[in-house]
Amino acid sequence: MTPAPDIVVRASPDRLAELAAGLQRLEQRLAAACAAARREREQVTLIAVTKFFPVGDVLALHELGVRDVGESRDQDAATKAAALRDAGLAQDLRWHFVGRLQTNKAKSVATYADLVHSVDRPQLLDALSGAAERAGRVLDVLLQVSLDTGTGADTERGGSLPADLPALADAAAGLPALRLRGLMALAPPPGALGGGPGPAFARLAELATRLQATHPQADLLSAGMSGDLEAAVAAGATHVRVGTALLGERPPPGG
Ligand SMILES: *Cc1c(COP(=O)(O)O)cnc(C)c1O
Repeated sequence: MTPAPDIVVRASPDRLAELAAGLQRLEQRLAAACAAARREREQVTLIAVTKFFPVGDVLALHELGVRDVGESRDQDAATKAAALRDAGLAQDLRWHFVGRLQTNKAKSVATYADLVHSVDRPQLLDALSGAAERAGRVLDVLLQVSLDTGTGADTERGGSLPADLPALADAAAGLPALRLRGLMALAPPPGALGGGPGPAFARLAELATRLQATHPQADLLSAGMSGDLEAAVAAGATHVRVGTALLGERPPPGG
């Protein structure tokens, strides 16, 4: 189902100024994090996670130079992508799907996403590849891995067990319409076993190195959010996914 075209309501001048200030603060943090890690700022792609925010905010961020946008719900993402395509920005924005993904949403996501970060099971790989093939696209995917060391895979936040990654990677690489590009993870929730985002992202970096040994093209690492992007940049993240620190507190879902 193609979502109905949407009129893009522009952000107010106050909101544009707020986003500009948020972006400036965030760029300072990223510059400091890159300097501390002896990395170039260009090695880290900033993804603005715009979930629950209006499409006018995406347009405003585009005016401020942001080109990578992340969403976590198919319906919202599809609507925003369609609206901005109608506004003529299709070539100019890259859409990152970062949320938990149900298999029955693969068909829609495969039509607009440029990089799907949250692939964590074989059925989803098959669904995405089939959908991308029918859409005449080749879809870049990351495998999401759970860094929780306690009870195994995190059923709420998603992610494959580290032990299941090699089989999942081989399956992804064997599908015609997918390109396996790397790994994605969320830091374990505060208070979880494993000692905070630093050690968790170090484990992630090790898994990424191991994956690249057999799949050299899987050279992307999506890690780091508003609260822990410094630790992620230190561990080698190529993509950070930032919502709150850029756009402010999220409105309630659907708002
Ligand atoms: C919402 C979300 C983010 C952004 O989180 P913030 O803490 O607001 O920066 C990043 N990654 C994923 C997967 C998300 O769902």
